[in-house]
Amino acid sequence: MNIARRRFDCLVVGAGGGGLRAALQLAQGEAHVAVVSKVFPTRSHTVAAQGGMNAALGNVLPDNWHWHMYDTVKGSDYLGDQDAIEYMCRAASRLVIELEHYGVPFTRLDDGHIYQRAFGGQSQNFGGEQAARTCAAADRTGHAILHALYQQNLRAKTHFFDEFFVVDLITDADTSVLGALVLEIETGEPLLIEAKTTLLATGGAGRMFRTSTNAMINTGDGMAMAVRAGIPLQDMEFLQFHPTGIAGVGSLISEGVRGEGGHLINSEGERFMERYAPQAKDLASRDVVSRAIAIEIREGRGCGPNKDYALLKVDHLGAELIKQRLPGIRDMAMRFAHVDPIEKPIPVYPTLHYTMGGIPTDRFGQVVVPVHRGPEEPVQGLYAVGECACVSVHGANRLGGNSLLDIVVFGRAAGNQILQYLSENRYHRGVSQGGVDRALERLARWERRGEGESVEALREELGKTMEDYCGVFRTQDVLDEGIERVLEIEARLQDAVLKDHSKIFNTARIEALELENLVDITLATVVSAAARKESRGAHSRLDYPERDDVNWLKHTLYSKAGRQLDYKPVRLKPLTVDTFQPKERVY
Ligand SMILES: Cc1cc2nc3c(=O)[nH]c(=O)nc-3n(C[C@H](O)[C@H](O)[C@H](O)COP(=O)(O)OP(=O)(O)OC[C@H]3O[C@@H](n4cnc5c(N)ncnc54)[C@H](O)[C@@H]3O)c2cc1C
Repeated sequence: MNIARRRFDCLVVGAGGGGLRAALQLAQGEAHVAVVSKVFPTRSHTVAAQGGMNAALGNVLPDNWHWHMYDTVKGSDYLGDQDAIEYMCRAASRLVIELEHYGVPFTRLDDGHIYQRAFGGQSQNFGGEQAARTCAAADRTGHAILHALYQQNLRAKTHFFDEFFVVDLITDADTSVLGALVLEIETGEPLLIEAKTTLLATGGAGRMFRTSTNAMINTGDGMAMAVRAGIPLQDMEFLQFHPTGIAGVGSLISEGVRGEGGHLINSEGERFMERYAPQAKDLASRDVVSRAIAIEIREGRGCGPNKDYALLKVDHLGAELIKQRLPGIRDMAMRFAHVDPIEKPIPVYPTLHYTMGGIPTDRFGQVVVPVHRGPEEPVQGLYAVGECACVSVHGANRLGGNSLLDIVVFGRAAGNQILQYLSENRYHRGVSQGGVDRALERLARWERRGEGESVEALREELGKTMEDYCGVFRTQDVLDEGIERVLEIEARLQDAVLKDHSKIFNTARIEALELENLVDITLATVVSAAARKESRGAHSRLDYPERDDVNWLKHTLYSKAGRQLDYKPVRLKPLTVDTFQPKERVY
C-alpha cells in the first residue's frame, strides 16, 4: 500500500508538558520538529495538574535543592536513581523562573515572590520540619504551564499534527527507530512520518484501572509501542494511588488541599493520620496515606452508609481561603461529590493516579537498554520523557509536585540531547517497507465487524480486573490469578469486534488500538508485581510486608517476548554529593 510520507528531524509523540518542553528546545535550536497528539495539545493530561511544581526557591520557608533531593530519594523508597534525582532537583529553581518568563501566572506572595505551598513528603534539613516547596498557580498549575508552553511553541513555529493517533514505531532490523505510522483521526488516512529521531512523551497509563484520576486518553500508548518494539519496560509494578480521589468517581482532590491545612477523618471523627505518621500526619507521602485510608476502611472505620470512604475536612480553613486558593477543587467537589467543602467534608478514596514505571532512559532522555544482561546501550534514534519514561527519579513512589518538574527538566534535557545527535547525524536512514507493513497490519485488524464481544465491554472488564487483582494491597495468589485473567482478556480481544456494526467510526477503531495498548501494559504491571517479593513504596505485599534491600534493591525490566523479567542495579551514586544510603522510611 502506498501511503503519504512526511519527513522531520524529530518526531515528538505527545503534546503534554514533556513533549512541548522538548519540542520548544528543538524548534528554538532550528530543528525541523513535528508534534503529534491524539487530542488537541492543550487537552493533554498535564492540563489537569492542580497542586503545583516543586523547586527549592525558599520563598515561604527556608529550603535548598539538597533537602529536596533527600526527600525525593526517601520518597522513592531508595529505588530512584540518585544521579538523575540530583540533576532534577538542582535544575528546578531555574526552570520555574524560566516558566514564569514564558508567561505562567504563578500565584504571588504579598512581597511579589512566587507563592509556595506545603506538599506531602517535603522536609527541611533532611527530614526535619515540614517544608513549603510547591510553586502553584492557584489550583490550576498544569493548565497554566501547558498553555504557556503551547503558545511558546506556536511562536517558535513547531509543526503540529493535532488529532493524529500514533499506531506504532517503525524500526529496522537492529531496532533503530526511524519514525512512526500515524492515523489521521478525522479521515482514517494513514501517514508515515520518517524522522531522524523520535521522542515518546505519551504520558501515563492510569486508564488501566476503571476508576482513576487520569483522563480517558491515558492509555499507555507510548509504553506499549516501546514494549512491542522489543524495549523492556522498567518498574511497572509501581503504581501510585492518590489518597484523595472523590469516592466512587475518581476525580482528583489535590494534595494541595491538605497542604493548605485540610485533614482526613474516619467515621469516629478521628484525625487518624496522627497514628500512622506522627510527625508528617496528613502530609506523609502518598503511599503511606493511601494505605492508612485502606486500613481504616478494612477495620470498619470507613464513613458513609457502606463505610467505604474517608472524609477530607476543609471547612475550618474558612470560605475566603478556599475561594482564593482552591477554587477548582471546590467546583469539583460540588459537581462530583455534591458537597460544598466550605460547609461539609469531601468523601475520598485512594484512586489510581500515576505510573512510576515506564520506558527506561538516562537523564538525557535517551532510551537505554541492557544488552545481553551486560551494560546499557542507547536505542538509536529513540528518546522518552515524562510519565511514559522511567529515568528513574520517582523510584517506588513519586512525591506530589515532582512530576510537573520531571517533565520540564527532562523535556528540556532531551531536546538538547537530540540537537546534539542531529548535529552529528545529518541524514535520514531509509525506512523498509517491512516495518511499515507490520504497523499497517495492526490497523487492518480493526476493520472487523459482525457478531462478537465488544471492545468496550472488554475494556471495562480489564479495568475491574486490575482493581480486584492489583490494587493497594497485594498477595501472591491474587496477583497470579490476575495474570491469568489478563491473559484471558488478551486472548478474547483477538476475536472482539467494534461496537457499531453498521458504521465503523475511527474513534471506535482508536479505542480498540488503545485497548490493545492497555492489555500490553497491564500484563507488564501484574507480571512485574507478582515477581517482586517485598514491600517498597507503592508496592505493598501483605505476604512480604518488609522492604528487602538485600534481594530487591534493583529495577525490574519486563520484556513482552515470553513475558520475561530481568533486573538492573539502582544507580545509588549521585553526580557531586554523597549517596543517601537506604534506611528505614518513617514520616
Ligand atoms: C488529575 C491530575 C492532577 C495532577 N496534579 C499534579 C500536580 O499538581 N503536580 C505534579 O507534579 N503532577 C501532577 N500530576 C501528574 C502530572 O500532571 C503528569 O504526570 C504529567 O503532566 C504528564 O505529562 P506528560 O507530558 O508526560 O503527558 P500528558 O500530559 O499526559 O500528555 C500525553 C500526550 O501524549 C499524547 N498521546 C498519547 N498517546 C498518543 C498516541 N497514541 N498518538 C498520539 N498522541 C498520543 C496525548 O494526546 C498527549 O498530548 C497530576 C496528574 C493528574 C492526572
